Amino acid sequence: MLKAICFDMDGVLYDSMPRHAEAWAKASDDFGLGMTLHDVYMHEGRTGFSTVDIFTRRNWGRPTTHEEVDRIYARKCEYFNALPEAKPMPGARCLLEQIRRDGFQIVLVTGSAQHSLLARLNRNYPNIFRSDLMVTGFDVTYGKPDPEPYLMAMRKACVKPEETMVVENAPLGVRSGVAAGAYTVACNTGPLPDQVLRDEGAAIILPSLQALSDYWPQLRDELA
Ligand code: CA
Repeated sequence: MLKAICFDMDGVLYDSMPRHAEAWAKASDDFGLGMTLHDVYMHEGRTGFSTVDIFTRRNWGRPTTHEEVDRIYARKCEYFNALPEAKPMPGARCLLEQIRRDGFQIVLVTGSAQHSLLARLNRNYPNIFRSDLMVTGFDVTYGKPDPEPYLMAMRKACVKPEETMVVENAPLGVRSGVAAGAYTVACNTGPLPDQVLRDEGAAIILPSLQALSDYWPQLRDELA
């Protein structure tokens, strides 16, 4: 019996991944980290620390340090913030409004750590998100692909894994949702093939949030 639906943010609620990819690739060039655009999409959802650490190990042969991560992540954020603000994902608002009308809890689960998050969500998605039903980069220790963020979301919403659906766009996000025991839907809004999402255990894969919005009434009835 479905009770709560958890939404990832970047690449699901906002069409922000091309900007994140560009910003990571530029910061990587500055520091010689060797990250490609493809790498950014494959590692989407990790914390900043975990992302940098993978590439220092791969290309510099050693783990990173907190000082290094602070410098590199600050540079990435500089590049990201210089780009125009990402637009809400087409179809997302219509989907969220249907889900709210149907009486399900809606939980935001993002690795992003921004203090202005709720204000922006309320501007783009009025009366959908609540501050007590959000898991952000400030809350987690491990982050995706660990199940931690989605398990934390279930605790906040007081629901069990079998009562939870997760909406994700990235392979590691799908892995996190599946590991937490949720019914995990992948919306493939990026450049990776569907197969990488299937390999992580996505229950279904749709090409867009609009497609999920159109399919929602049928999916809701199936999961009930
Ligand atoms: Ca994402």
